[in-house]
Amino acid sequence: MKVLVINAGSSSLKYQLFDMETKAVMAKGLCERIGIDGKLTHQGSSDDKYKADVPMHTHAEAIKAVIDILLDEQWGVIKDMSEINAVGHRVVHGGEFFADSVVINDEVVKAIEACIPLAPLHNTPNLIGIHACEEVMGKDVPQVAVFDTAFHQTMPSKNYMYAIPYEYYEKYKIRRYGFHGTSHKYVSKQAAEMLGRPIEDLKIITCHLGNGSSIAAIDGGKSVDTSMGFTPLDGLPMGTRSGNIDPAIIEFLAEHEHMDAHDVINILNKKSGMLGISGVSSDFRDLDAAIAEGNVRAALAKDMFNLSVKKIIGSFIAAMGGVDAIVFTAGVGENDRSVRWDVCEHMEYLGIKIDPEKNKFRGRQMDISIDYARVRVLVIPTNEELVIAQDTERLVNEMAGN
Ligand code: AMP
Repeated sequence: MKVLVINAGSSSLKYQLFDMETKAVMAKGLCERIGIDGKLTHQGSSDDKYKADVPMHTHAEAIKAVIDILLDEQWGVIKDMSEINAVGHRVVHGGEFFADSVVINDEVVKAIEACIPLAPLHNTPNLIGIHACEEVMGKDVPQVAVFDTAFHQTMPSKNYMYAIPYEYYEKYKIRRYGFHGTSHKYVSKQAAEMLGRPIEDLKIITCHLGNGSSIAAIDGGKSVDTSMGFTPLDGLPMGTRSGNIDPAIIEFLAEHEHMDAHDVINILNKKSGMLGISGVSSDFRDLDAAIAEGNVRAALAKDMFNLSVKKIIGSFIAAMGGVDAIVFTAGVGENDRSVRWDVCEHMEYLGIKIDPEKNKFRGRQMDISIDYARVRVLVIPTNEELVIAQDTERLVNEMAGN
């Protein structure tokens, strides 16, 4: 089976074509500036990249451009569009409707639409991507939605409720949802495989640390708590997001800076976090370079990040009554050894100790804990696109009765 994985944003669209027999990525690329002019970057079987200005007034035109390049004599990897057996879409918010991925039909589209108020900036373009694929590829090619929120639907209510009047949950579904679910699910499964133990017997804390960051507590293979909340703004300080702050700051800033709540939330989303504290950058590599030159605020930003990760790990260990493995993943988690070191420092009393030699490696799957440590600390590169492709294959096969 060949599965096209689509991650549609408001003006961009990422794609990967998977051959599910080998799990290999046959081609991948990115459409940018959709609705403005249109740029396509594509990589097929060779290492060379094809870059071109391709007019893309709509997402349907972007999908058409993707299909055209996949069929291209020089840059393509398939001979006919019918070779694409199914499409898997990343959809950010599934609300309380979806605890798993799902084959898209009219009812599913309605439910994704109903979640638009919960994630207007994401679900709207995700839906546009779904409609565009149907328009270009036809109704017969099955499409699957894979939700960022679905994995966390197993959280108990005591972990997902906010202590505000209950009626707001009933009226507006205000609660913790959590995000990065596809990644947390993938790396927790990989962790169980690495440890050679059934996931049902394990307590795992997965740290997805990238430009956006979240941590999940996974007990027996089920997400029981996570640091992101009603929106991805909650939890850790991130590249440009503040993470958890005293909500009274919002009114204070609005009053003193003559802004409305929307403006303040915008600042908390786009101008805070590592960027806001350091004044240098949201990128951890830039922070490291600034720290090396003695920049005190860049060092403060990273210290705040590392301490927040440590505190959330600690709280999840307390809530789960222990931990067997801690996983670091995503751009920062996979690559930044100083983050991993600082987070795990002085946690020997919990059975956590990193081996400094093993911690030097980056970007590949490995156990970096010291041999005698009771808790295994693992680095596992995430692969959300592969999970989307695998879920798509599974559901399409189930639908066909295979
Ligand atoms: P992601 O959102 O998972 O793509 O992660 C992106 C972030 O990973 C970037 O903002 C960088 O701060 C961080 N990152 C990527 N490579 C490195 C590296 N070699 N060292 C430190 N941080 C890195």
